[in-house]
Order: sequence, then C-alpha cells, then structure tokens
Amino acid sequence: MIQKIDHIGIAVKDLEKDTKFYRNVLGLSFEGYEDLPDRGIRIAVFNINDVRLELIQSLSPDSAIATFIERRGEGLHHIALGVDDAAEMLTGLVRNGVRAIDPEPRKGAGGSRVAFLDPRDTGHVLIEIYEKGRDGHKRK
Ligand code: ZN
Repeated sequence: MIQKIDHIGIAVKDLEKDTKFYRNVLGLSFEGYEDLPDRGIRIAVFNINDVRLELIQSLSPDSAIATFIERRGEGLHHIALGVDDAAEMLTGLVRNGVRAIDPEPRKGAGGSRVAFLDPRDTGHVLIEIYEKGRDGHKRK
C-alpha cells in the first residue's frame, strides 16, 4: 500500500550552490549530506513536514545521475512513493503490466528497500518504490 510521498529527488551539478538556495533562501530544514558511494552519488537532504527533498549530485562520471544530467539536464529526477512492503507492491505492479527497472527491490540507504519503475509506464516520471529501513537515515 502506498502511504505517502516519501521524497523527491532533484539532479544537480553543483550541490553546494543549490543547497544554499533550498537552505538559506527557501529556509527548508536541512538534515545534512550523505554519500552513497555504491551509487556514485552525494545527496543533500531537506525535510518538509516529513517529506524529504533530496538534491543529488554525481560523484563519478558513470553514475546514473551523471547519465541523466547528460541526457536531460538538471532538474526533477524521481518521485519516491513510501510503501509498507516494496516487494509486495512491485509484484502487484508487474502483474498489472508495469515494467520495472528493478525486477526485485534492492537495498537502499539506511536499510531501505527500493525499486524503480520504467518511466514509459508512469507518464515519463521516474517513480521509486520506497520501503523505509528499520534503522532509518543516519547522516553526518
Ligand atoms: Zn530516491
């Protein structure tokens, strides 16, 4: 079951510059930076009434974010729908003919389970199915 929008991911080239806008100009609550080396990215996390906004910067030229920015430029990258059971949600969607980029949920940050759907089936928005990890998010 879909519970909420968990977070929105925005692809950026200059994380510090854009963090200043969201933090200082918009005045959003800033939770910190987080490196996800296995995905080749660094994120800046903001919290708006328990919905996160993540600015995503590539740390390596072959990351998915680097490819995305090269093809489509900076901007909205994905919307993550928070679910209680990612595997169950994905199975139901695939049964309904939705194509999934990840055939099975994989491990995300903080023990989460995540899977991306094929944008061709979602109105050309990258949708992430996101099941929160028990240990939550740890940031430095
Ligand atoms: Zn995400």
